Amino acid sequence: MSFVLFGPPGAGKGTQSVMLAKHLGALHISTGDLFRAAIKNQTPLGQQAKAFLDRGELVPDGITIGMLKEHFQTTKTKSFILDGFPRNVAQAEALKTLLLEVGLKMDQAVFLEVDQAQLIERLTGRRVCKNCGEVYHVRTRPSQKEGVCDKCGGSVVQRNDDRSEVIENRLVTYEKSTAPLRDYYRESGCYFEVNGMGEMSEIFQRILKILSKK
Ligand code: AMP
Repeated sequence: MSFVLFGPPGAGKGTQSVMLAKHLGALHISTGDLFRAAIKNQTPLGQQAKAFLDRGELVPDGITIGMLKEHFQTTKTKSFILDGFPRNVAQAEALKTLLLEVGLKMDQAVFLEVDQAQLIERLTGRRVCKNCGEVYHVRTRPSQKEGVCDKCGGSVVQRNDDRSEVIENRLVTYEKSTAPLRDYYRESGCYFEVNGMGEMSEIFQRILKILSKK
C-alpha cells in the first residue's frame, strides 16, 4: 500500500504519516524533513534549499525531484507514504515518471481537509524538538518542562517557518501551487478526502478507513 498524503501546511500530514507508517510498515518520506536534515548537516543541497524554506516558498522542482529520486533509489522500499510531495502539478507528473523508473506504484492520493483558522492555530503553536523531531503544541500538547523534549531532553523550539510572517506566505503558496492537485488527482481517479479536524486518533482511523477502500 503506497499513497500520497497531501493538504495545506498544518493539516497534520507529518503527524499522521508517522503513525500510518508505523501501523502499515510503510516508509514515510517527507521532503520537508529531508530538506531540514540537509540544512542541519550543511550539505550542498541544504545550502541551496535554506532560503526557500526560510521564506516559506517551494524549493525549485529540479532540486526537489532530484532529491526524491535519489532517496527512492537508496532506500529501495516497496511501500511508501509521501508527505509533502508532490506540491504542484509538475511534481505530480514527475512522480509518475519516477515511480515507473523505480518500479513502484502509488494507490491513492489522500487529501487532509482542515479549515484556515485551525491551520493558523496549529502552525503558530507548533514546537518541535531540534534533536529528535518530536512535535508539540503550546496549548494542546506542551512538553512537560517548557523548552525541553519529553522524549530525548533536546531543546524544543519553534520552526523557523512557523513564524507568523512566514506562515502567511506558506498558505498563499499552498493555494496557488498545491491546491490544484485536488483536481489533478480527482481526474486521475485516485483522489480521497479526509476530514482533518478533531483528535489525532480519530483522524488516523478516518484515514485507515479510506485506505481500506482501495
Ligand atoms: P513541510 O515540512 O512539508 O511543511 O515543508 C517545509 C518546507 O520545505 C516547505 O515550505 C518548502 O519550502 C520545502 N518543501 C517541502 N516539500 C517540498 C516540495 N515537494 N517542493 C518544494 N518545496 C518543498
